[in-house]
Amino acid sequence: MSEYLLEMKKITKSFPGVKALTDVDFQLKAGEVHALLGENGAGKSTLIKVLGGIYIAEEGEIFIEGQPVEIQNVADARANGISIIHQELVLVPHMTVAENIFLGRELMGPFGIDSGKMRKESQKMLDRFNLGIDAGELVGNLSIAQQQMVEIVKAISFNCKILVMDEPTSSISDREVEALFDIMRGLAKQGVGIVYISHKMSELDEVCDRVTVLRDGYYVGTCVVKETPRDELIHMMVGRELSSYYVRDHVDNTKVIFRCDHIDDGKSSKKRVKDVSFEVKQGEIVGFAGLVGAGRSETMQCIFGLTPGSAGEVWLDGQKLNIKNAVDAMNAGIAMVPENRKVEGLYHVQSVNFNSTIEVLKEFIRHLHVDSNKERAITQEFVDKMKTKTPSLEQTVTNLSGGNQQKVMIGRWLATKPRILILDEPTRGVDVGAKAEIYDIMNELTKQGVSIIMISSELPEIINMSDRVYVMYDGRITGCINWQDLSQEAIMKLATEETAGE
Ligand code: ADP
Ligand code: MG
Repeated sequence: MSEYLLEMKKITKSFPGVKALTDVDFQLKAGEVHALLGENGAGKSTLIKVLGGIYIAEEGEIFIEGQPVEIQNVADARANGISIIHQELVLVPHMTVAENIFLGRELMGPFGIDSGKMRKESQKMLDRFNLGIDAGELVGNLSIAQQQMVEIVKAISFNCKILVMDEPTSSISDREVEALFDIMRGLAKQGVGIVYISHKMSELDEVCDRVTVLRDGYYVGTCVVKETPRDELIHMMVGRELSSYYVRDHVDNTKVIFRCDHIDDGKSSKKRVKDVSFEVKQGEIVGFAGLVGAGRSETMQCIFGLTPGSAGEVWLDGQKLNIKNAVDAMNAGIAMVPENRKVEGLYHVQSVNFNSTIEVLKEFIRHLHVDSNKERAITQEFVDKMKTKTPSLEQTVTNLSGGNQQKVMIGRWLATKPRILILDEPTRGVDVGAKAEIYDIMNELTKQGVSIIMISSELPEIINMSDRVYVMYDGRITGCINWQDLSQEAIMKLATEETAGE
């Protein structure tokens, strides 16, 4: 028999325009808790979805206890003893705990569905883990953590051999995390192989035996957690070459024009922004780094007037701003381009298929109030300065080539006179050429004196484009790094620093 409970060999999976996994190997032993570690977008969830029959890999093989298996759908995965708890909870809120656990395989008695029996069986399973959850309770009445526990009990009730948890602790409290870890340890002791996806380094130490690291869709390595220093794991996560990326001419301007003090989202539960203070100099690109969920977008939403009840002070040019909504923010000279998928809700822009930030920027500008005379003048200036190839200014923008559209767009931007431009993941999902165009625009804008705040989860982008970088973890700023001192390791350390600010 094979040494491994599960072996995934040379798994390759592409989506249109992105190769999410390339020749990835993964090996899981019975009775171990095995962490899957990697930056956002490294391919962790995709690998798990291949295992769970949600995606079909183009290439690669899967072995369970040494035997090759075909996993074409979720039922195949389940038949092979694989249970997965995905990042998104999938319980039905208006059904009871027992009904959820037995959903789709209800126990039948002589008179149809035997609710009593399902409830009794469920209660037995819940009690095995001392969860204090009533099997007859509606799932909608449970806390997120309790729902998570129900998911786990449900997963185990299939008598799984392999249990996968995709970032299960992101929404639950410390005490509940402990309960979860107890369950995991208990299951591992019974011989279940557990795959645990998490960014949290301290959790690795506490509950995981081995760790496999993915980076940019590639397998980097597998090591024993206790024998591997944290620094080395961070290096494995981020240790890529930076040379092929775009580089910026750094500005060393000392004039602070924008300051945010003690920004707080005002929420008592699920607080995402905790006493955030930072400053921005004129013509500077300030990067905001951190893992997904660190609170970067939420911070900017507070500043931009999108979070009712948020607190803190925002200062521009020595004046305290009173921003109650997005219009106030824009009138004050702050512009924000949210992450692509969030744009429609924010600006109510319809009928536009946003597929890149370039489009977003253009559309955003179209909806701003622009002084058309001024715009013409500035556009003309730019056409001259940047040698835009257009027969006349009357030429519709859409008939111009992409690069020339960009240049016209910069002119329009300047006409709206934003002082502060906030860009949330400006190049997510765009190809290399479009990235370079966006970086060109950013550089050009800063030369005109605009200051840019850029949220990005791509470390190479943050490092090459930022003059300074604030790093956030769990709603707080854990550090600020000048461009001379930027490295992927330095950022990652601050981005995974659990004790910071507590
Ligand atoms: P992780 O879980 O490590 O954060 P993912 O597996 O979710 O990473 O994503 C890996 C890569 O595949 C990313 O570049 C992501 O944008 C892309 N990707 C994931 N799912 C899809 C999908 N359904 N369609 C297109 N691209 C996807
Ligand atoms: Mg994921």
